[in-house]
Amino acid sequence: MKKVYIETMGCQMNKSDTERMFGMLSNFGYEETDTPKEADLLMVNTCSIRQLSEDKAFSLIGTWGKWKKTRPELKIGFCGCVAQQKAEEIFKRARYVDFVLGTHKIYSLPDIIKKINNGEKVCECEETNATEDDKAVKYEIDRVKSVNAWIPITEGCNNFCTYCIVPYTRGRERSRLPETILKEVKDALNSGFKEITLLGQNVDSYGKDFNDKNYRLADLLRDVNAIDGKFRIRFVTSYPTDITDELIKTTFELDKVCEYFHIPMQSGSSEVLKKMNRRYDRETYFRIANKVREMVPDVTITSDFIAGFPGETEEQFVETLTAMEELGLDYSNTAAYSPREKTVAAKWIDKFIDEDTKFERLARLNEQNRKCCLASNQKFLGREMEVLIESFENHKGSNVITGRTRNNKIVHIPYDKDLTGEFVNVKITGVKTWYLKGEMI
Ligand code: SF4
Repeated sequence: MKKVYIETMGCQMNKSDTERMFGMLSNFGYEETDTPKEADLLMVNTCSIRQLSEDKAFSLIGTWGKWKKTRPELKIGFCGCVAQQKAEEIFKRARYVDFVLGTHKIYSLPDIIKKINNGEKVCECEETNATEDDKAVKYEIDRVKSVNAWIPITEGCNNFCTYCIVPYTRGRERSRLPETILKEVKDALNSGFKEITLLGQNVDSYGKDFNDKNYRLADLLRDVNAIDGKFRIRFVTSYPTDITDELIKTTFELDKVCEYFHIPMQSGSSEVLKKMNRRYDRETYFRIANKVREMVPDVTITSDFIAGFPGETEEQFVETLTAMEELGLDYSNTAAYSPREKTVAAKWIDKFIDEDTKFERLARLNEQNRKCCLASNQKFLGREMEVLIESFENHKGSNVITGRTRNNKIVHIPYDKDLTGEFVNVKITGVKTWYLKGEMI
């Protein structure tokens, strides 16, 4: 049997694509290996959100290219967001690459494999306005063994935030058909997964592009919730102004849908938000986040922020720090601004913030994030909570099981038996910045 190794970079969307690619390749007699040197086919599924990640991908295939000198039969594939963006250019930069596969047509992989095995070089990076649902149903998905299955429900994005490469790499927003999604959910549950995360760049705009039906995220949540069995449902990522009252109400009402919203704010300054082409200002974000908190008890709200966006002043940056604090955000992903080719903000070179200032702001953002996380965790001290166990390990001589609460808090519990995949009730007995400590009830 031939072996394939895939290095996956970036977000859950890429991880989900990799699972689909493994599923297709298993139909073609490939088995997965964790050891690149053993592989007959090496693939990198790239991310273009930051330059660092792109550089890492080229460095990796550079190493693989050297192996090819002594193993000419070795095949190398360059996939994902950087592939979608650069297409044929990849061959110029790395002649040893056998195929380039963008994000729009991952279901071309079986055809590509046939062609490269006949000695052809293939570039499949054409943009499409359709989902590949018709092809998706033909293949099994080789999911990473875990309790949580990530299921994409939309692809692409129409928002064109001025810093973001996603609309150029993932194309316009397309909603996958409810029946395809529901089949994937049922398959995942039948394989033993206990948590379903519905995934999209703007998950809450799901269904906006359906011309023949009025079916939105709240409807999909109701249909997934109606499937028999004990499991949890999450959805990420929410665009602030696409969160409807109906969605918040549905989250509260449906028993399997978890009390968790990931709502990127990106900046606490209305002027910066405008330059980012985000369709809300500081006040609007506050109004939406506060409404979510009022309507969904115990909800956690997490966010994303960028430090040092072009032209950001110290005062505007401080507005981000105060927003994090005043909103009582439970956790935030933070990053220093990284210019991405093709995006609007990347052209504002004269407004770029120097690296020292950018990283000094990032450090302050991280410090504020730490304070917010600790304050958020302290709210749960002494509470009894349901935890879905995700792992079992021996830590410094003691056995510990680790899982998440419905509102996505990580809990470590001393326990001698592996309960991975089980729901347990726990009393929260300790609080750290990034996690809670619990005891079995
Ligand atoms: S909403 Fe903005 S940040 Fe999010 S994927 Fe779309 S363009 Fe990128």
